[in-house]
Amino acid sequence: MSTDRIGEHSGNWSERSRQAVWHPCTQMKLHERFPPRAIVAADGPWLIDDQGHRILDAVSSWWTNLFGHNFGPIREAITDQLGKLDHVMLAGLTHPPVVALSERLAELTGLGHAFYASDGASATEIALKMSAHSWHNRGQAGKNQFIGLQGGYHGETAGALSVTDIPLFREAYAPLLRLSATLPSPDPRHAAPGVPAQAHLQSAIDALAAYLAEHHEHTAALILEPLVQGAAGMAMYDPAYLLAVRRLCDQYQVHWIADEIAVGFGRTGTMFAHQQAVMPDGQDVKPDFICLSKGLTGGVLPLSAVLTTDDVYAAFWDDRVVHGFLHSHSYTGNPLACRAALAVLDTFAVQDEQGLDVLARNRIAAERFTRLTEPLSRHPRVKSSRHIGMIWAWDVDCAEPTFASRYHRAALDAGLLLRPIGSTLYTMPPYVLGESDQRFLAEGMLRVLDQVLAEIDQLPSADTPVVPVP
Ligand SMILES: *Cc1c(COP(=O)(O)O)cnc(C)c1O
Repeated sequence: MSTDRIGEHSGNWSERSRQAVWHPCTQMKLHERFPPRAIVAADGPWLIDDQGHRILDAVSSWWTNLFGHNFGPIREAITDQLGKLDHVMLAGLTHPPVVALSERLAELTGLGHAFYASDGASATEIALKMSAHSWHNRGQAGKNQFIGLQGGYHGETAGALSVTDIPLFREAYAPLLRLSATLPSPDPRHAAPGVPAQAHLQSAIDALAAYLAEHHEHTAALILEPLVQGAAGMAMYDPAYLLAVRRLCDQYQVHWIADEIAVGFGRTGTMFAHQQAVMPDGQDVKPDFICLSKGLTGGVLPLSAVLTTDDVYAAFWDDRVVHGFLHSHSYTGNPLACRAALAVLDTFAVQDEQGLDVLARNRIAAERFTRLTEPLSRHPRVKSSRHIGMIWAWDVDCAEPTFASRYHRAALDAGLLLRPIGSTLYTMPPYVLGESDQRFLAEGMLRVLDQVLAEIDQLPSADTPVVPVP
């Protein structure tokens, strides 16, 4: 495997980065003591740093990567497109990749009218604006408030933060935001002591019903992450909650926005997470909006999309320009990114020699990995372990606020990219880990856990709360 010469001979990337780059989600001062790793190449699920170390990308580079880095079909699609049309504005013009991708996404979801941006947070903004604007166009301008869930995360721009319930990300900007209502999460870990999961789920549904009964006239939409609240620490909940959401949103004429940015594209075992909610009569449960990003391009190029119903679309269809959805981004529908996304969809559509598609192969791989991580799940300091699709999480009994950063650093030294959220250790690996890579990850996670807990147990006791950063 080759390391790019730029990495070998161009000096100290890490130090130059500290001077020139302001890193995301980072207190830069911490990089004085713990400089960022410089990654110069990648090979499937492996990252290669400027010292030639191989690091397994066990968080899929912030949940974006599906099929490993430098995945042939995506690379070929982008390269082919680069020889045809690199970029063109999408207002007044169109191009084959954006048309084909929009048709394919509509087929897959039953929603259509794809509207594009480049990041997840922009998709959230678009969905919120579209929802409120559609009510406005329908003569119900009073319906302009939003509901989010406890622990919900929808991005960092001002509108997205206003429906995000992660205080660490939100507090400094609180005066700039028009906060949404935050309703209880169905996450069973929030159940009061002695309350069974089922009763907790019902109480979350009752809280939503009660809120909507009182406030539906002012509520445009409810936004949530279906099945897994990622930034809350991979909180997983029962699809029955989504059935109730659909029923209540219909009853009270409120849009349901499904933020599938992290959970779309097979992460939870189905192509989209909300597809695991099925009506008693077998009918699919459909949201009014779906936000997509992250895995949409297989983790290669920034692209996001919002899909919606014919009904919402119709609310903008008018002779008056101002009734149109006049939102835009310079790179809306970038052809290269659309080709990457089409290559991702093609990859999901093909079956291997055994007749298995990506989702079927993932089920087999997930069973094996769950077995390999049993020692971790049974670890005496693990309080709760959970798994869905290609996401695994373990809550560690450790109150030390530096657990996550210590674990992250120790894992890097062990050849693993992992970033616990607070005291929740999780992995969300690319779909292409073979058995030996899975074994490396499972054994590494356990070994690093023991090492970090031993290190922490030596510290004088701390009583500051854990600060969760994904
Ligand atoms: C990552 C994420 C976002 C924000 O996407 P960005 O591309 O980081 O702006 C929004 N919602 C969810 C559920 C996410 O996981």
